[in-house]
Amino acid sequence: MAKISIKTAKERQGEVSVAGWARNIRLHKGVMFIDLYDLSGMMQLVAEAGSEAYQVLENLSLESVIEVSGTVKPKPARTGATEQEFEVAVSAARVLSAADAELPIPVLTKADNEADVENRFNWRWLDLRQPEHQKIFKVWTQLEKGWRQYWDDAGYIQIYTPSFMSTASESGAEVFAVKYFDREAYLAQSPQFYKQMAMAAGLEKVFAVGPVYRAEKSFTNRHATEFTGWDFEISYIESEDDVMRELEQMIIKGLAAVSINLGMNVAAPALPFPRLTMAEAKAKLAAAGVKAEAADDFSAEEEKELGQMIKKETGHDFVFVTHYPVSARPFYHMRREDDPTLTKSFDLFYKGLEITTGAQREHRYDVLKKQAEDKGMDIASLEDYLNFFKFGCPPHGGAGIGPARIIMKLLDLPNIREAVFLPRDVKRLRP
Ligand code: ATP
Repeated sequence: MAKISIKTAKERQGEVSVAGWARNIRLHKGVMFIDLYDLSGMMQLVAEAGSEAYQVLENLSLESVIEVSGTVKPKPARTGATEQEFEVAVSAARVLSAADAELPIPVLTKADNEADVENRFNWRWLDLRQPEHQKIFKVWTQLEKGWRQYWDDAGYIQIYTPSFMSTASESGAEVFAVKYFDREAYLAQSPQFYKQMAMAAGLEKVFAVGPVYRAEKSFTNRHATEFTGWDFEISYIESEDDVMRELEQMIIKGLAAVSINLGMNVAAPALPFPRLTMAEAKAKLAAAGVKAEAADDFSAEEEKELGQMIKKETGHDFVFVTHYPVSARPFYHMRREDDPTLTKSFDLFYKGLEITTGAQREHRYDVLKKQAEDKGMDIASLEDYLNFFKFGCPPHGGAGIGPARIIMKLLDLPNIREAVFLPRDVKRLRP
């Protein structure tokens, strides 16, 4: 009989063949009960003493992989049960892969202290067997699907950009140097320069999904050294407003896909998302007595408080902050015509955490070069980049998004590491 998923077996009933992890094995009055898990769900197996199946499953270690055939039937309703439960009366069983008797981490119980957490990540594949951890990646898949749907519907072109760079030019700090044959290369901190090259190449609307690297020695709950970046860049914009409006649509599409395809209760955020200038946000925080660490940036505390204030005032989980000062932004952000000390940039915050940085970029060669010089950049190492703007380049802008941070906030996870398959941070380079 062909193997089917546990979910399908419950729907179909009758004779089935299912496979999965043997979890929670009990013996009661000579009858063996096993909770069998696969990606689609859990079902109880029942093997009668003396049966052939019982003999196969006797002495089975927890987390072994088994395949069984039998008859699915509804279980008598239990007091307090919210849905009909099913069980399989097992007629035949096969052990596909026996697990070691000693599990390094428990699969069923939740870890609750930091040591447990480290151990969980050491044995991440066991940790991921928990249905609620598997759900994180189902959510990620749907979020990305909705996001890509938007890109596709709106005529975006996908580009893949290199991770090896010849210079560490975007910011200098926080960059990983790697041995590249007989010279040094650097791992890309973002696809920024290449997205802009795509604008100079006439691709007009592009997106990129790929790994980015930050040599940040930070031990926070929201920084990884390698993470997946979602990036987009669009031509012929009037201002950063056009970029913000695009981003709103992507978020709406992404959350809708999670809600519709997974049946999760995710409310669609109202349009437009609240918008505040940085000066307004800073004034609001100061008035509420929130301590600032820097005039041109937000501390984690400020981000969190701002998120709570906006939620209280507007009911919104998202807020755009605009008009960042030149000091807080990279040289390629366009400056405002009305106040050249400020940039045409924004950050988007979700439930008190920065999830996106975006801006209109400076596309005028001379102005761009001057801004790079003003920031003390090494112009020679920027030559390739600056050349993108020498032979005609439309006005453009875009944004860089951290999907793991969105997932973290969407599912209220305590740390970005929980939102990714295998985290990479200052200390963790394995498995
Ligand atoms: P932060 O101020 O929080 O360090 P950043 O200003 O360095 O972030 P950007 O360079 O603007 O971030 O990157 C774009 C997006 O990528 C961020 O809004 C965030 O969602 C995500 N991101 C940035 N750094 C990290 C990181 N170290 N780990 C995970 N995601 C990150």
